[in-house]
Amino acid sequence: MSLLTDILEFNGQFVEEKGYEPYITTKYPNKKLVVLSCMDSRLVELLPKSMNLRNGDVKIVKSAGAIVNHPFGSIMRSILVALYELNAEEVFVVGHYDCGMSAVDSETMIKHMKERGISDETFDI
Ligand SMILES: [Zn+2]
Repeated sequence: MSLLTDILEFNGQFVEEKGYEPYITTKYPNKKLVVLSCMDSRLVELLPKSMNLRNGDVKIVKSAGAIVNHPFGSIMRSILVALYELNAEEVFVVGHYDCGMSAVDSETMIKHMKERGISDETFDI
């Protein structure tokens, strides 16, 4: 059984048992806050727990390294939507120790991509 199958099976039961009901809230963040943080899997539960944030309190935007690379990219668009359409008033950028992005070398990553089958032509586009 694949991971996707496992997740879909779990989700079916979750919905059937109405496990979502304790998490029902509005689309507006109760604490009027946006947090930009890293996508690091160690932060999935730790970040909100460490900031006393619960479901519905905050808009959490994640990227590798908590970095905004482009002024009109998806990260900035998410922050702007939260501020101007969803009543958020503050933005916190939260980094963490031992971030994987601090050790990423783009040339090495391109080498790994090519080793896994990405063609040279793809990089020329
Ligand atoms: Zn990180």
